[in-house]
Amino acid sequence: MKASAFSYARATSVVNALELLATHGEKAKVMSGGQSLLPAMNLRLISPELIVDVSDLSELRGIAVKDDVLIIGALTRHVDLLKSPEIAAHAPLLAEAIAHVAHPAIRNRGTVGGSLAHADPASELPACMVALNATVIVRGQTGKRRIPAVDFFKGIYETALAAEELLIAVELPAVRKNSAHFFFEFARRRGDYAIAGLAAQAIVAAAMFTNLQLAFFAVGDRPVLAEAANRLVNVAITPAVIWEASQVLGEELDPPDDQQASASMRRHLAKVLLARSVSTLLGRPDLNAGGTA
Ligand SMILES: Cc1cc2nc3c(=O)[nH]c(=O)nc-3n(C[C@H](O)[C@H](O)[C@H](O)COP(=O)(O)OP(=O)(O)OC[C@H]3O[C@@H](n4cnc5c(N)ncnc54)[C@H](O)[C@@H]3O)c2cc1C
Repeated sequence: MKASAFSYARATSVVNALELLATHGEKAKVMSGGQSLLPAMNLRLISPELIVDVSDLSELRGIAVKDDVLIIGALTRHVDLLKSPEIAAHAPLLAEAIAHVAHPAIRNRGTVGGSLAHADPASELPACMVALNATVIVRGQTGKRRIPAVDFFKGIYETALAAEELLIAVELPAVRKNSAHFFFEFARRRGDYAIAGLAAQAIVAAAMFTNLQLAFFAVGDRPVLAEAANRLVNVAITPAVIWEASQVLGEELDPPDDQQASASMRRHLAKVLLARSVSTLLGRPDLNAGGTA
């Protein structure tokens, strides 16, 4: 199938893009790498009247570190994250996760901003941004808004972005001393969307978690920052503690039931991931059997 007829405008600046979006509102769609937008148009899931192509706006591309904050421009491509020494040093969770996003051809064009604005609940980057306490920066004609990642994702393909706003950057705190991360996803094949996944960031002191962010993906309508993690903070971790946390997790998740996996399978996989992440983050292989009951 091919997309229905549409008009095309190549934005010459951020201000120009915002003018076009303000004029055309819901009838316009931003295009960055086009890796999700164009397939959706070709399948006629969406039929915008105008495409606002922002891919030439080089001021929106790049990675910088300032005062322990990592700033990633919206047009930074997945491949840029993979190759970036700043990402490897200050957000190793992202560096690990990005290798699971699709395939090289898609990572060469797909962008961070596009992935976050697309808000697929099975997507890796939104969950990482939630685990890392990122702030999403959006801009409209009246100015900028800073939105915590955990509030940015509103549902399946739904975000806090208004039709006339542009996602311009994401900011995340550089990882602190004693930080540890974990990333794993169950997928049918490498590069496929996850059936269930977990992006986790922790601070470990004296063999305990002083902070633990467990962001599950593909098990809800958006990334889920699990409350169950609170059961694991500032306590000595035993198999019984993991089992209790996994029960809480099972109750708080409301996973989808589809052709990929049943809801109960996804809930089970999430519990497996919880136990596996705790064991890995603490460097305690003895704990990996806990929490899956
Ligand atoms: C075969 C295939 C496999 C894939 N596998 C995965 C996978 O495993 N994991 C994964 O996460 N993704 C996967 N994807 C999706 C893809 O990697 C990302 O969704 C994509 O890279 C998004 O970035 P983009 O720049 O291409 O966005 P685009 O396609 O240009 O845009 C996506 C959406 O975001 C909006 N948008 C884009 N940029 C902005 C902006 N700056 N401000 C406001 N709105 C904006 C667009 O209007 C559109 O609605 C896959 C895609 C394909 C085709």
